[in-house]
Amino acid sequence: MSNSRRQFTRTATLLTAGTVLLPNFNWAQSPAYIVRKGDTLGQIALRLGVNTRTLKQVNNLSSDLIQVGQKLKIPTGGNTGIETPTLGPTKTYIVVKGDTLGSIAARNGINLRSLKQANNLSRDLIRVGQALQIPNSASGQDLLAHVREATNRIHVRRDNWQRIVVHHSAIKYGNVKKYDAAHRRRGMQNGLAYHFLIGNGIDSGDGEIEIGPRWQKQQLGGHVKSYRINQTAIGICLIGNFEKTHPSKKQLDAFTQLMDWLQGDVLGKKVHFDGHRELKGEQTICPGKHFPLAAMHARYD
Ligand SMILES: [Zn+2]
Repeated sequence: MSNSRRQFTRTATLLTAGTVLLPNFNWAQSPAYIVRKGDTLGQIALRLGVNTRTLKQVNNLSSDLIQVGQKLKIPTGGNTGIETPTLGPTKTYIVVKGDTLGSIAARNGINLRSLKQANNLSRDLIRVGQALQIPNSASGQDLLAHVREATNRIHVRRDNWQRIVVHHSAIKYGNVKKYDAAHRRRGMQNGLAYHFLIGNGIDSGDGEIEIGPRWQKQQLGGHVKSYRINQTAIGICLIGNFEKTHPSKKQLDAFTQLMDWLQGDVLGKKVHFDGHRELKGEQTICPGKHFPLAAMHARYD
């Protein structure tokens, strides 16, 4: 019993790999609730201002059993404008394959000791599916604040996006303004082919996430050959030529924060993940041999 239960939990977690619940999760735009550690169906219903039976009906639940990471639809008339009392100064992170305590601490700009303290851990051992409390970073390492804010103002076409493709820009210069102009000159009427750029400290900040007009307008990308894939693939481009140099630590931090947030908060689902060159029919070395594609696959597949 405990074994099959663990299996189920693990499966449920992998389906929402990388889900990060952030303190300012936008309830108003997200008529869904993601189950957190310690939640019961009754408590959730109470918080949402609906009765338990309605909550179960809307979600086709036959029992009261829910799983951490499970996404629940909020019934019409439910109170989607409230924040849950558990949204405090910490956020919850679900451990995925390839994570170490050290890498989680680094990505969140906190030290290992405070991460262990916050979770009462005496050892460095963590397991896939484990829920960790992430203390707020004092060093301002949240690279997503402006991206969340801008995205809260638009209607994300959640059902449309099925894939995320990572690119390098193959040159060390550039930012949204420059590439947008360049892509328009090349005849792309929607401008910048990617949805997001991650700067390297030259023409934008190191690890700075810039939002392209196609994300603002929820338009298809222009970043791969296949029109069909462009229609459903979010394009993220890190500035730099990663055949020659390595992405900076901050660029990779920004990338994983963006990936976790897109799949966790924005889309509420795990999507396909590819390096540009891995797509069929492409003849490119993008995102370059120094982009840690294998490590990212271990994390996001
Ligand atoms: Zn590319």
